[in-house]
Amino acid sequence: MELWFTEYQTPAIGFSCKSTGTLRTEKTAYQDLAVIETEQFGRMLLLDGMVMTTEKDEFIYHEMISLIACNSHPRPSKVLIIGGGDGGTLREVVRHPAVEQGTLVEIDDRVIQAARDFFPSLSCALDHEKSKVLVEDGIKYVQEHENCYDIVIVDSTDPVGPAIELFSKSFYANVYKVLKDDGMLVVQSDSPYYHPDVVKMAFNGIKEIFPLTRLYLANIPTYPSGLWSFTVGSKKYDPQEPCHSHQEGCRYYSLELHKAAFQLPVLVEQLIGNGE
Ligand code: SAM
Repeated sequence: MELWFTEYQTPAIGFSCKSTGTLRTEKTAYQDLAVIETEQFGRMLLLDGMVMTTEKDEFIYHEMISLIACNSHPRPSKVLIIGGGDGGTLREVVRHPAVEQGTLVEIDDRVIQAARDFFPSLSCALDHEKSKVLVEDGIKYVQEHENCYDIVIVDSTDPVGPAIELFSKSFYANVYKVLKDDGMLVVQSDSPYYHPDVVKMAFNGIKEIFPLTRLYLANIPTYPSGLWSFTVGSKKYDPQEPCHSHQEGCRYYSLELHKAAFQLPVLVEQLIGNGE
């Protein structure tokens, strides 16, 4: 008998892939967690029935959420990652030669444990000498810190459950305070095709707080519609202009793609109000 996993990416759209077994299911203090084996994408981490990351295509998201900011900030010494408990973003951040410390603030320690148990290629940097891992609520963490990070990356789930606040203006204002005076914020801002409201909420919220706001795109096969957005809020530097040339070992990111990622289709320009 064939087994298929389906993520309902909208009430009318399902993403299905053939599953060859379930490695873990548990209800954590924050969400339903599952790890399944799939024929096409290898091991897959699911939270509340949504694909978080897979062995086969994780590199796209983790390179693109990390390297656009790390390569366009002249001194990306101290980087804060909120969420990202699978460790993939932290791996890319601490791999960057100019980064001195990557601090991960993940609310659910069971996600970190699942990454350690089933995704060694993702969790390999959790014990890196440049890494610091805290199990805390990122919303609280940014309220309690000030002027100490060059880059903040919000690698969160979609605006549900403990992540709802991570898409709020008050959170972005607290991130502004946590950043140094030339700091940069990057957030995953969802799918322009299936969740335009989330894209607009993130972009407009950041635009109200930061002097410079830019959106860029990447193609991620296992994310809703396959077209994914990231939004940058910058206090000083233009994220479109790389000032480092780190691209070693990358399989999706390149310095040419860095600039091209900011070239947006008309429908996305209009969505964020640039087309008006
Ligand atoms: N790449 C994925 C995506 O785009 O959906 C996100 C991956 S990562 C697994 C998302 C993480 O955000 C989860 O582990 C979740 O526990 C964490 N998270 C959600 N809300 C949080 C909060 N308030 N503070 C810290 N971590 C949070």
